[in-house]
Amino acid sequence: MRSMADSQLHWQNRPVIFADSHAMPPRDYPLESYWMPFTANRAFKAAPRLFAGAKDMHYVTEDGRAVLDGTAGLWCVNAGHCRAKIVAAIQKQAAAMDYSPAFQMGHPGAFRVAERVARLAPGDLDHVFFANSGSEAVDTALKIALAYHRARGESQRTVLIGRERGYHGAGFGGISVGGISANRKAFGSLLPRVDHLAHTHDLEHNAFSRGQPQWGAHLADELENRIIPLHDASNIAAVIVEPMAGSAGVLIPPKGYLERLRQICDRHGLLLIFDEVITGFGRLGPCFGADAVGVVPDMMVIAKGLTNGAVPMGAVVARRGIYDRIVNAAPPDTIELFHGYTYSGHPLATAAAEASLDLFEEERLFGRGQELAPYFQEAVHSLREMPHVTDIRNLGMVAAIELESGPGRPGERAFRTFLKCYEKGVLIRTTGDIIALSPPLIISRQQIDELVGTLAAALKETGRN
Ligand code: PLP
Repeated sequence: MRSMADSQLHWQNRPVIFADSHAMPPRDYPLESYWMPFTANRAFKAAPRLFAGAKDMHYVTEDGRAVLDGTAGLWCVNAGHCRAKIVAAIQKQAAAMDYSPAFQMGHPGAFRVAERVARLAPGDLDHVFFANSGSEAVDTALKIALAYHRARGESQRTVLIGRERGYHGAGFGGISVGGISANRKAFGSLLPRVDHLAHTHDLEHNAFSRGQPQWGAHLADELENRIIPLHDASNIAAVIVEPMAGSAGVLIPPKGYLERLRQICDRHGLLLIFDEVITGFGRLGPCFGADAVGVVPDMMVIAKGLTNGAVPMGAVVARRGIYDRIVNAAPPDTIELFHGYTYSGHPLATAAAEASLDLFEEERLFGRGQELAPYFQEAVHSLREMPHVTDIRNLGMVAAIELESGPGRPGERAFRTFLKCYEKGVLIRTTGDIIALSPPLIISRQQIDELVGTLAAALKETGRN
């Protein structure tokens, strides 16, 4: 195993430009047929941005430019791109066994990954149900919550509680408990019997916080003071929140807030589900967000970093008592939960997950996130005086820079900054007028400087109008 010092040296010395090996010939395919997700299709196709390669901290565009990855792809490539160990594991598995039926059959990799995830998970969360994405895993967790209460003889507990500005993927379950209006408004009545907590974002009290803000633990009390009296606790199945809301613009949980949600759920028999799709696998420092905030949920939803983004995979990690109640209490020789996916625990995904978990361990990447976080924090907070910045916030290896929206043009200022950064060779991510940074955990201090320095230059340029 390489020592931490060796690993750092190695990261810092990685080559930056791969242009020659990845340069692509002129585009010889039309763009029209691909209906792109969560993308302004027409604007994109008029001025496309295509990646053709990736290695470690960089993407390579189709015209051979290196782009520093400030977002770990979509919050998923925590160990950096095309890591040899993961690539080799996927290749080997593809040649050995491409697919194994997921129902009434198994293969060793799925059991091994489940056992390793169970070992990493906090408390007695020790049973793992595989899906293929965060969205599927969210649906799975919600269904398990309902099935659990039914198995306990409380089948009336069907109300699900999410939170404003929560993102739980794009399935009907996820958008129902999710709280992003743009993701909901076109799609009818969604799941019935859903309610939402207020979000915790408050710039009046918490602007420019470093780490978890001091103000706001009391916002959890809304669960007990408004939502539980309205629906009656005896009807509520579960509360689902992201420990740190990522996609809606990096909303950091106030100190004590998640602890209070846990206590209220306990008092009233509600399951607490943490959606750890972004916060899992070192993003906030330790392995899970639950570890970072010291709160043990009843279920965790995981995806993204589980395979380092290399093969789609999601999962639900459930407490032993949930598994026992649904599985061990069912009549023998019956299928205990009528749920699953053709590709649950797909061999390529489990191979990628095993190799990713090995790599995280060998390079002590969870420790790495923790160690880098203070440097990252100071770097991003140096942007405070840039034009139009109304807030900067951070937790672990995530940060957000919130901009004042241009008059009548919400989101446009941040998106122009995104385009400028891309031109300058850095990938950032925007949600409305919030810029989110979540680089791979292998980023060096020098690359943090490059990321933040490029963003500063872009903010200055876009700030002129
Ligand atoms: N949950 C959270 C917290 C997420 O951030 C995401 C995706 O960003 C999802 C669920 C959905 O994951 P997927 O896009 O893999 O379906």
